Amino acid sequence: MSTQSEFSLIETYFTDLTSSRDDVYLGIGDDCALLSCPVEHVVAVSIDTLVAGIHFFADVDPESLGHKSLAVGLSDLAAMGAKPAWFTLALTLPDSNDAWLMAFSKGLAILAKQYNIQLVGGDTTKGPLAISIQVHGFIKPEQALRRDGAQIGDLIYVSGTLGDAGAALQLKLQQWDDEVLTVQDRHYFYHRLEKPSPRIDVGLALLEFATSAIDISDGLSSDLGHILKKSRVGATIDLTKLPLSQSLQNISKTKAVELALNSGDDYELCFTIPADKQSLFESTVDGEYRQIGVIDAELGLRAISVDGQMDTITGSGYDHFSTNS
Ligand code: ADP
Ligand code: MG
Repeated sequence: MSTQSEFSLIETYFTDLTSSRDDVYLGIGDDCALLSCPVEHVVAVSIDTLVAGIHFFADVDPESLGHKSLAVGLSDLAAMGAKPAWFTLALTLPDSNDAWLMAFSKGLAILAKQYNIQLVGGDTTKGPLAISIQVHGFIKPEQALRRDGAQIGDLIYVSGTLGDAGAALQLKLQQWDDEVLTVQDRHYFYHRLEKPSPRIDVGLALLEFATSAIDISDGLSSDLGHILKKSRVGATIDLTKLPLSQSLQNISKTKAVELALNSGDDYELCFTIPADKQSLFESTVDGEYRQIGVIDAELGLRAISVDGQMDTITGSGYDHFSTNS
């Protein structure tokens, strides 16, 4: 991209994309942004890259893509219990397409405003379509919801419903078709894949209660597995308790549970709460979440299946570098 068109593109689509925050001393337009962090807090930082053909279909609706590019970062902040503050955007574009940029920046801006997160800089280059967003949020370090804090006896919860995005992905890839599905079910699944809701409010509410948390990007079995490994504990979950959307309940039970356990991209939170805080937690914190299991001393992840059998689960969430994915 020529320097001039790069500057005018940034000016047109990104300079005033988000509202300005008081803690941004200098935003887009210089070599660096200058930012200030509130006392007693640290900055939680995370970056995610979405590449066309790998993380999204190149012909995906660009407004949804703008939403999702930021939503995945916000989901990391949520999983840490951090309050969103700023983000930067590295955009690699094959060409400068106004309609595409207009829709993409709109999807980004709507979500950014919803969570009061400000775009403070970035980079724009020419090449195969890819989007990297780095998010920054505030957290008191001793309150952060880390992966290594789960204790034996803690209760395991998940927010929202699981498996919906995975269902959409399998439909898109034509790996699965289910004639039972209505048009509404299909649309619901696609919406969950393309427009995930970051659970920022849940994350913030967990600060008082949770001993650990993670966002479910690769699949429950895999992501809960990260908590177990870091916390050096094991877990038993009850598959009859997995939260399934109405649309997922419309398909076969086995398929629904398989998706809820192993498919990614839902961006719900999985977290642990000490048993003695359960009633206070459930009576204080509003929102959609459900207890699905318990942390125990025996390492590994076990599941009580729908027919009451106990199975060992070997995490098989989506792994980019595994040989069989
Ligand atoms: P530099 O030459 O110092 O790398 P750039 O020419 O890349 O600066 O960018 C000029 C300004 O525009 C910087 O403040 C940068 O952060 C910002 N910027 C560039 N691309 C984007 C983008 N896609 N979104 C937001 N800000 C951007
Ligand atoms: Mg640059």
